[in-house]
Amino acid sequence: MNSSAIQSAAVRAGIGPEMHRLITDLYPICRSITGEGLRKTLRAVGKLVPLTLREVPTGTQVFDWTVPKEWNIRDAYVMNSRGERVIDFQSSNLHVVNYSVPVRQKMQLAELKAHLFSVPDRPDWIPYRTSYYKESWGFCVSQRQLELMSDDEYEVVIDSTLQPGHLTYGECFLPGDLPDEIIVSTHCCHPSMCNDNLSGIAISTFLAKHLSARPRRYSYRFLFIPGTIGAITWLALNEEKISRIRHGLVLTGLGDGGKLHYKRSRQGHAEIDRAASHVLQHSSYEHQLLDFSPYGYDERQFCSPGINLPVGRLSRSPHGTFPEYHTSADNLGFVGPEKLAESFDACLQILALLERNGTFLNLNPKCEPQLGKRGLYGMVGGSSDAGVKELAMLWVLNLSDGNHPLLDIVERSNLSFDSIRAAAEALQQKGLLRECLESAPPEPAESLERTKS
Ligand SMILES: [Zn+2]
Repeated sequence: MNSSAIQSAAVRAGIGPEMHRLITDLYPICRSITGEGLRKTLRAVGKLVPLTLREVPTGTQVFDWTVPKEWNIRDAYVMNSRGERVIDFQSSNLHVVNYSVPVRQKMQLAELKAHLFSVPDRPDWIPYRTSYYKESWGFCVSQRQLELMSDDEYEVVIDSTLQPGHLTYGECFLPGDLPDEIIVSTHCCHPSMCNDNLSGIAISTFLAKHLSARPRRYSYRFLFIPGTIGAITWLALNEEKISRIRHGLVLTGLGDGGKLHYKRSRQGHAEIDRAASHVLQHSSYEHQLLDFSPYGYDERQFCSPGINLPVGRLSRSPHGTFPEYHTSADNLGFVGPEKLAESFDACLQILALLERNGTFLNLNPKCEPQLGKRGLYGMVGGSSDAGVKELAMLWVLNLSDGNHPLLDIVERSNLSFDSIRAAAEALQQKGLLRECLESAPPEPAESLERTKS
């Protein structure tokens, strides 16, 4: 996969609106960490990319956790004595605390209030609340709605089920030339919220679609999983696959107007961390690099000490740093097609760098080869970047001893990845360089042991 194929401007031009359309289609679905909403979402993704749905039964032990009961909901409301639905799940699925147990009873406002949640300083927004691991129920309302509720007897109905069933996740595997894998993971367990969950789903889907149509050095595994429990479940049930994972990205919150944030893996200086940092620093995109912390999305599981995968996270505004986070204001207007396209492009560039970060061997290592007689010296005479091209060739020749991938040379030389890669290709064409094609030795099972002890 060369850079022009992967960074095609034509792809970028139309992809923002396409991703926004997918988000619009998925927006009304009431997702959760299990249940039909999650399945419906995965089936929609499966229409665009080859996706395998896996069903893990309730009660399955996954490391220290247990796959919970499956939750489904048909309807929910709070009705006043005049027969008016003053809170209605049909108008927003955020109105019900996600994973609420079934309820059907009448109660006074004072009793009901213990089950109502609002955001007082944002009077028109409905908050998002969950209760996955403690059986309870509740409703989320705007502060304005809450204030309109008078003392009255209310009929409270949550027509849900919480029963043994399955946890569903989706996996899109794209085999490459190497068995070595890149994983891209996104959570898809939030109901009607766009930046938090749907933007990650859209970017992952379109990345998979884009990569599926192109030659790949790496194999890719795209995971569409419920947050936390999905990542834990996948890791617990796929431990034998962990040793093949070379790089990984958690994608979430990629459609808002904030700058791009790359959060480094726990390892801190893994190839994915260096690739993301190089791409962002050489892009025109506003960005910030963050160090790893054990707080956030599913990078927490991928980077737990006994797993310790080189998995970083790409987001725009980090979760919790914008007021719309986990509220009804994270809606279709909060995510922009151009921001989605920009995030998509950053992801593709990071993956393209990993794809092209080959290691080469200088076939003429004793003193410098004579570049002039091969037409490599001053080959672009008069052009202002001729000096850069020659400098790039000298760096590549000097460090290509079979032990330094191109990214090492990029960092040592302070030149761009594209110029170093172009130099390597020019030298290879003239027979001065050979790519070392072996995949990395399969040793992470051993390194897992090491990190466990
Ligand atoms: Zn969230």
